[in-house]
Amino acid sequence: MRGMAYFDYSSTTPIAREVASAIESCLSDFWANPSNIYSIARQTKSLIEESRRRVAKLLNAEPGEIIFTSGGTESINSAIHSAVQTTRKSEIVISAVEHHATIRFCKKLHGCKVITIPVNNHGLINLNDIENVITNNTAIVSIMMANNETGIIYPIKEISKICHKKGVLFHTDAVAAAGVIPINVKELNIDFLSISAHKLYGPKGVGALWVRNGVEYCPYIVGGNQEGGRRGGTENITGIVGFGAAAELISQKLNEADSIKILRDYLENNVLKLIPGSHLNTFAEPRMVNISNISFELIKSIDLLFELDKYGICASNGAACKSGNLEPSHVLTAMGYSKRRALSAIRFSLGYYTRQDEVDYLLDVLKTIIQKLRKNSSTSI
Ligand code: PLP
Repeated sequence: MRGMAYFDYSSTTPIAREVASAIESCLSDFWANPSNIYSIARQTKSLIEESRRRVAKLLNAEPGEIIFTSGGTESINSAIHSAVQTTRKSEIVISAVEHHATIRFCKKLHGCKVITIPVNNHGLINLNDIENVITNNTAIVSIMMANNETGIIYPIKEISKICHKKGVLFHTDAVAAAGVIPINVKELNIDFLSISAHKLYGPKGVGALWVRNGVEYCPYIVGGNQEGGRRGGTENITGIVGFGAAAELISQKLNEADSIKILRDYLENNVLKLIPGSHLNTFAEPRMVNISNISFELIKSIDLLFELDKYGICASNGAACKSGNLEPSHVLTAMGYSKRRALSAIRFSLGYYTRQDEVDYLLDVLKTIIQKLRKNSSTSI
């Protein structure tokens, strides 16, 4: 049996048909440099502005608050960089489960001190911990809206309230959340928010940083006057137009998230029922409807991923290869899981195109290959 089943939406989503056709027409017809004054250039400029309105609508933001970037990583780096520059303060507060785009950037910032808030074994943050570490020298607090490995949703509005009470800027990495949970920046009362098009059925290499009107911004990428002088470099027109089309589509799809939850719950319940020695790594609420993180006793996730691939099944783990060794996910270890448990974890992530028959196929294949891997003692851990 060889099918194809995609369970890696949190890594990247397929490009929606509507998005691909917007990109195609852009490639063939709208290639002029939008900084110029002639009419074909003004046409491309107006497409960018239309995309800005669409992305703003997804967040209930003002179009002028959107800065197009090269993706989530640049948006996150830019928000933190801006806060450090404009406040002239040098402490940054983050959580232990942030994406590497946050953790590694903060560690690299010259002269800055990074304060890392722990999570408990459900992946949750104690809000008092944040309040207690903010000082007069805190430049920014950056906590993700939802975790990309576990799906745990963080109380952004409450965290931002604590930050503002103490006069500190707040950024949220909403890359994993956007397209799965509704986002309303007006309600959240935050300062910066990062999103990425390729997580919401758009193209790779394009994202947005939302900066609340009135918040001072210091550009990170400096060059020409694009993006109102806030991000230099000739615009990635096809990417931005694709992003706009994806934002428009996703704004309408968000109310279908319940159908993803039904499939996710079916997947989880059946894995736990059919495969002995399988354990859910996150079940605390609130969590997003699209992610299931499961460890399989006596299995190395990397072996399981290769086996799944033979059956055309795509999934992933949070482990990273470092000097030839497999390092367990920093998210699962921050939650207190052992190295063994973390190295046996697989993240299955679902999306708007996931079908029941794909989940059934995955369940069938999992049963077979886990039995096979467990029989093979050399793969056990
Ligand atoms: N933040 C989170 C939570 C992510 O999942 C990712 C990508 O996996 C990023 C940031 C980085 O986004 P990008 O790939 O657009 O640079």
